[in-house]
Amino acid sequence: MDLQMNGLRVLVTAGANGIGRATARAFAAEGARVHICDVDLAALDAMAKSDSGMTQSVCDVSDRDSVARLFDEVTKTLGGLDCLVNNAGIAGPTGRVDEITVEDWDRCIAVDLTGQFNCARLAVPMLKASKNASMVNLSSQAGKHGFPLRSPYAAAKWGVIGFTKALSAELGEFGIRVNAICPGLVDGPRIQSVIANKARSMNVSHEEMTERMFAGVSIKEFVNPNDIAKQIVFLASPFARTISGQEVSVCGDTRMLS
Ligand code: NAD
Repeated sequence: MDLQMNGLRVLVTAGANGIGRATARAFAAEGARVHICDVDLAALDAMAKSDSGMTQSVCDVSDRDSVARLFDEVTKTLGGLDCLVNNAGIAGPTGRVDEITVEDWDRCIAVDLTGQFNCARLAVPMLKASKNASMVNLSSQAGKHGFPLRSPYAAAKWGVIGFTKALSAELGEFGIRVNAICPGLVDGPRIQSVIANKARSMNVSHEEMTERMFAGVSIKEFVNPNDIAKQIVFLASPFARTISGQEVSVCGDTRMLS
């Protein structure tokens, strides 16, 4: 299927690893022009070698000066913007609300929620000039369910859904679609460290914790990052021109998080 996105100008935050990297590559495979940013210099260097068609910036999405520099660079490299993928996010601390530090709470909200605001506010004036404008914000199943021992992450990801729905309602008149993606347990090192932290916190084995995490999931396999990437690319394509304000789950039917 030709998604008709040749030349689409796309910014993927945190595009040097994991879901962001898979998404950047999926856009590029459809003929889009892709700019990525990240804080991981080694991963950016690796991407410069392996994916030399993409342009890139070093940017911490929680730092407004850094984000301002990013958008200056995007203006230079892409000359405009048709799609912002607000992907940057950290797992945040694992622990009960009275155990986590205020610094860990603040950092998780700053990256996972305020980071999306920092990018969206500079992207919107550029998106208004596009004929096929969209924004895709990475939420999580933790943005749809309670997630014990991960309150900052869950609060940020529920916030992302509220942010997405508000932007969809306010930007529809400018032809800008805004959707959220809610992944479940995604294959990769990040989920293994999440499981390890929870196992330690609950004093159970890694295997036992993995089993508990899948207890409320109908399709008991890790989600492939490429499957998330394909959903994001579709939402940015002209075929999704009437899809906005949605929280799209790619999660094996997650009914509960443990
Ligand atoms: P990952 O840990 O594999 O990659 C995250 C990337 O973000 C890394 O390249 C890291 O350097 C970058 N990053 C971290 N802080 C940053 C900052 N302040 N500014 C810019 N870049 C920063 O994570 P992932 O699994 O690919 O997750 C991507 C998104 O998907 C996140 O928003 C995450 O919350 C969400 N998500 C992931 C899962 C999962 O199971 N992996 C599930 C649900 C939602």
